[in-house]
Amino acid sequence: MSIRPDVLAAIGATPLIRLHRASEETGCTILGKAEFLNPGLSVKDRAALSIVRDAEARGLIRPGGTIVEGTAGNTGIGLALVASVRGYRTVIVIPETQSAEKKETLRLAGARLVEVPAVPFANPDNYVHVARRLAERLAATESAGALFANQFDNLANRQAHVETTGPEIFSQTQGAVDGFVCAAGTGGTLAGTAEALRARKAGLRIALSDPEGSALHAYYTTGTLKAEGSSITEGIGQGRVTANLDGFRPDHSYRIPDAEALDIVFRLMREEGLSLGGSSGINVAGAMRLARELGPGHTIVTILCDGAARYASKLFNPDFLRGRGLPVPAWLEAAPGDLP
Ligand code: PMP
Repeated sequence: MSIRPDVLAAIGATPLIRLHRASEETGCTILGKAEFLNPGLSVKDRAALSIVRDAEARGLIRPGGTIVEGTAGNTGIGLALVASVRGYRTVIVIPETQSAEKKETLRLAGARLVEVPAVPFANPDNYVHVARRLAERLAATESAGALFANQFDNLANRQAHVETTGPEIFSQTQGAVDGFVCAAGTGGTLAGTAEALRARKAGLRIALSDPEGSALHAYYTTGTLKAEGSSITEGIGQGRVTANLDGFRPDHSYRIPDAEALDIVFRLMREEGLSLGGSSGINVAGAMRLARELGPGHTIVTILCDGAARYASKLFNPDFLRGRGLPVPAWLEAAPGDLP
């Protein structure tokens, strides 16, 4: 398939990449699914495409209609590119505190931004509630209608991974996959991929890799949603059981500190040529913990969600890291003037 009919046909079917150091250190085969190679540069293109296709199939959106979502990140970028191809407009409601880089990336993907003050979810002016109301208003007033994408509770998100990510991993490993690990934001990737893999292989182990500040690790280990600490990672961690996580249970759960995840992000960059965002570090850390728990000889797959460029001013900024008490690798400190 050398010519794709459109950019949507370039979503998914991403390579699985062997992570050499993680594999050598654990005696397992640790593989990363290269989701940063999707056209919108993240795993969320899959959910965005599935949400739009599902809405089309149900007659919830018509040509010229508007897709509305409250999001600061990758889902908005995915929705914007899918919308452009399918003939819709995209409005992203975003808290004004989000970085200029992110706002610019969304605009370059074709989204219109509505900036709102950053207030908690309990406040009716929270960006998610504003997005929902805006979608309802546009649906009632615009002739072509509007769709609230609602990624957290829209099961078309999880279904994308049931139908694509999970089956791809199974066939790419020729069924040899023994474990799958990833973090959860909406939970679509974790629950959907787990569903597809469990249906194909009894006894396969599924693990949650949770950042600090998320309530899910406590929920799956003690039964109570309880969040402690905080994380500089973005797009992952969750304070509730979303509809996409409903009915799902991992076999293992790990809480990964930022220092452990960042060390892995930096090593993947320096040792494997993989420039990745923070959630990929949380995921590979979880894959290494599962590998150690299962013992040598197993094949563990995780998700490389997006790339480093989206986090240049944070994860790769020594002042930002120091301000949060995180270790700064020597090479990141080195100025160009230090060259011999
Ligand atoms: N990593 C990044 C960078 C993300 O943007 C997201 C999506 N919020 C995730 C991981 C988690 O994916 P999911 O929503 O499928 O749980």
